[in-house]
Amino acid sequence: MLNIALFGPPGAGKGTQSEFLIRKYNLYYISTGDILRKEIVRKSELGLQAKSIIENGGLAPDEIIVQIIENTIKENPDAKGFLFDGFPRTYIQAYILEGLMIKLNTSLNCLFSLEVKEEESVKRLLIRGETSGRSDDNEEVIRFRLKEYEAKTRPVLQFYKERGIYVPIKGQQSIEKVSQDIDAVVQNELSKSLFNMVLFGYPGSGRGSQGKALAEKYGLEFVATGPMLDQEIKMQTAIGKEVESLYESGQLVPDHLVVQIIEKKLEQSKGVKGYIFKGFPRTLVQSYILDGLLKKHGSSISMVINIEVPTLELIQRLDARSKTNHGMPYDNSTAKIVKRLQEHETKTIPVIEKYNQLHGVCKIDGLGTFEAVFARLSKEVDEGIKRMR
Ligand code: AMP
Repeated sequence: MLNIALFGPPGAGKGTQSEFLIRKYNLYYISTGDILRKEIVRKSELGLQAKSIIENGGLAPDEIIVQIIENTIKENPDAKGFLFDGFPRTYIQAYILEGLMIKLNTSLNCLFSLEVKEEESVKRLLIRGETSGRSDDNEEVIRFRLKEYEAKTRPVLQFYKERGIYVPIKGQQSIEKVSQDIDAVVQNELSKSLFNMVLFGYPGSGRGSQGKALAEKYGLEFVATGPMLDQEIKMQTAIGKEVESLYESGQLVPDHLVVQIIEKKLEQSKGVKGYIFKGFPRTLVQSYILDGLLKKHGSSISMVINIEVPTLELIQRLDARSKTNHGMPYDNSTAKIVKRLQEHETKTIPVIEKYNQLHGVCKIDGLGTFEAVFARLSKEVDEGIKRMR
């Protein structure tokens, strides 16, 4: 998600700059002022409460604002990001926004503060007042709105300075130049956001080979826990030794070891564009672990894909693989193959169902040549990456 707030005194150009941001980044626009004005026209309860305050240039109560924002966010569960105009305007609203972002498992990327001198604001608003039809665009109310801004709203900047997402913008340049300055920061912000994909499929569905090829094509890091554990054993690291003894006694590798190797991988691969996870998360517990690990890196899951292959075909493929040189030790008997399919069924299918509710899982037909399946996957990944922008 890309979440942006436009900040600045009345007349700074927040509404004007919103237009290009909405268009370019497909953000859902929330202007508390616009919503309040609509409520006033509708003569709703909220509108009636806010009418005289707005007409006098004061700030509407935080209780009203929180309801407006919460309802708007709730009504738009599929939004790819939000653009806030005229919110937050008080310290309390800054905390409200934090809470709402946490609830959506996201955060505010940047707060652009459009800086203009008081006299410029007054001049612009008086011109706007000639056509806007807004009862608060007259000199007396404008002066009071600016006073409210200085007293209650400007101090909120400190909150965002401390969080490192405050971006001052020279608001007295041309509209195009202001847009350019904002856009440069947004582009930089987007280049930092990771594209993280989880690739599911039964053993034998081709997720390993397809995942590796996708990672190469899109410049993503391939995180496959199975081979990573094998590597630890080969290198006889501390984790490797512990895993080896467990392998020998036929036990599953415990989560605390899996977490360590993934954590190490994420640390070592800083600067990549994103990750493809394969073979992890395998259980509901591991899905919570992945959320936590990504969150630590300021990131989250962008896309989930499930490669679907009918069971009989899976068994045929695994059986054929067991007869080749690159057969894995866990594929070398029918009993083991059946056990792995069962493990997937009982432990991993619930994870896919969870993701389906949270993000939607994209299903890919895994039948056909490697190239045909790869083309289907690529098409979806292209779409997924586009949706992030
Ligand atoms: P705007 O359209 O953003 O200039 O807002 C117009 C008026 O709506 C303001 O002067 C306030 O009275 C009210 N208002 C808009 N947003 C807020 C907010 N976040 N908190 C309090 N009052 C607001």
